[in-house]
Amino acid sequence: MTSLIINEMFYSIQGETSRSGLPTHFIRLTGCPLRCVYCDTEYAFRSGTKMTFDEIISKLNINLTKFVTVTGGEPLAQKNVLFFMSKLCDLGYSVSIETSNCISIKDIDSRVSIILDVKTPGSQEEDKNLISNYQELKSSDEIKFVICSLDDFNWAVEYINQNNLYNICPILFSPSYGEMPLQELANLILDNSLKVRLQTQLHKTIWGEINGK
Ligand code: SF4
Repeated sequence: MTSLIINEMFYSIQGETSRSGLPTHFIRLTGCPLRCVYCDTEYAFRSGTKMTFDEIISKLNINLTKFVTVTGGEPLAQKNVLFFMSKLCDLGYSVSIETSNCISIKDIDSRVSIILDVKTPGSQEEDKNLISNYQELKSSDEIKFVICSLDDFNWAVEYINQNNLYNICPILFSPSYGEMPLQELANLILDNSLKVRLQTQLHKTIWGEINGK
């Protein structure tokens, strides 16, 4: 009830979302039920160390930054993360979670910012998208699409309209690293007059393909 399997923790620059550029504590949880073809964190599928909430919190420093991002793997695969994130909020941290839209988000503390990664066909996991999650999102959350190709782009545009996603919260389009050129995605967004935010993975611009620092 008060422990989690942790793959890694590090202090770095947030590379994505509206918090991009902010110094952030990252907590990566072990395990993921999906196998996206472009996954860059396969090392988080299995290896990890069991840590108590207090042990994890002792490695954070609110004086460095109050921003904490919980990620994976798929962090919601470990149910204790729900209690853990509430505890971080109680301690004054500003918490965000990156989740892959294959597990219900309905029990996430309302103080937590949710980044919901809707899976496109390019991931080969789009059939795992949990449509019921969209009604659980707040206006302060964010929906993210990783775009691998023109087909993915067209799919995402149609999917957004079909599920009325513009009326929920900001939408992010992120190019799949090494697959979709940033300039091509920028032009597609402009040519189609989309009301989405283009984002890069700033940490990869800074440090290359490694995650974080
Ligand atoms: S959901 Fe994330 S961690 Fe899991 S396979 Fe897909 S990209 Fe990798």
